[in-house]
Amino acid sequence: MTRLDGEKLLKRLPKPRGRLDANMPLADLTWFRVGGPAEVLFSPADEADLAYLLKETPDDIPVYVIGVGSNLLVRDGGVPGMVIRLGKGFGDVALEGGYRIKAGTAVPDVRVARFALDHSIGGLTFLRGIPGTIGGALRMNGGAYGRETKDILVEARAVDRRGSLHVLSNTDMQYTYRHCGAPEDLIFTQALLQGEAGNKDEIARAMDEVTERREATQPVKSRTGGSTFKNPPGHKSWQLIDQAGLRGFSIGPAKVSELHCNFLINEGGATAAQIEELGETIRHRVKDKSGIVLDWEIKRIGIPAEGADHA
Ligand SMILES: Cc1cc2nc3c(=O)[nH]c(=O)nc-3n(C[C@H](O)[C@H](O)[C@H](O)COP(=O)(O)OP(=O)(O)OC[C@H]3O[C@@H](n4cnc5c(N)ncnc54)[C@H](O)[C@@H]3O)c2cc1C
Repeated sequence: MTRLDGEKLLKRLPKPRGRLDANMPLADLTWFRVGGPAEVLFSPADEADLAYLLKETPDDIPVYVIGVGSNLLVRDGGVPGMVIRLGKGFGDVALEGGYRIKAGTAVPDVRVARFALDHSIGGLTFLRGIPGTIGGALRMNGGAYGRETKDILVEARAVDRRGSLHVLSNTDMQYTYRHCGAPEDLIFTQALLQGEAGNKDEIARAMDEVTERREATQPVKSRTGGSTFKNPPGHKSWQLIDQAGLRGFSIGPAKVSELHCNFLINEGGATAAQIEELGETIRHRVKDKSGIVLDWEIKRIGIPAEGADHA
């Protein structure tokens, strides 16, 4: 079993301008509120600082970037290597010509939606309902109500594992449903988004509708990771889970939401292992009932707790 030793790892890394901390708890940085620590957690001061540390980080050290953890399950044993979380230096939103908005990837999607409203820019309202960052939206091709990131992205800036800068076009991102085919090591730093001429009152109304619809149909105030599984072609995951009789099913405090069967909830005190076991149990039961295999949409990272069975 791998043991994390953040202090030892820190000694192998140069000093960035931003923060670099050993053995940092990640649970409170995710919506599920579960999981172990990052061996080291890096919060770069800005894009140049990010590029510098990546360039100087030995190749054998794994690197993983997180947003606000709204689609993330961190396992109980923590995450070996370096976890990167972007902060203030990636938090600007600015207006460009032609109804375009430039946003740092630490910016919450909802802030971009509100910025678009303030400037009467339409086409970005769907971002109101996704509780992640622009970085998460770029990687997940986040979407709702028939629109997705693919429909609004002009280009994205990114830094690779060796610290080199890239600018990717929409095509370079190789988007499909909730998937981005751009190289896994890319850390997105900025997005240029395309909106359209809009009417402020109509945009405001549409945003209110998104909020109301969300609160009525999703457990938005719970400890959850959003949609657990992607919708298989021609099917809705929540329906398959419901038909398998799993609405409200639980393993300890890890529970299938009564409100929306594709959401798993930590009712308080659940472990990541229980949530993952619940997800795997759902996959087996749905497969038995319908013959359809569900694919995880939630990203699972890290290692199980010492002594725990692999889920
Ligand atoms: C209540 C609720 C409702 C939700 N509704 C929706 C919805 O309607 N539509 C939808 O699409 N999603 C939805 N989600 C899921 C989630 O909000 C999205 O997937 C979101 O885009 C994730 O962003 P994040 O910042 O939380 O990323 P995280 O969950 O922290 O990470 C998700 C993935 O993005 C990667 N990532 C994050 N930042 C970067 C970066 N800067 N560069 C490269 N990769 C990065 C991570 O490595 C990881 O692979 C919902 C979640 C919740 C909890």
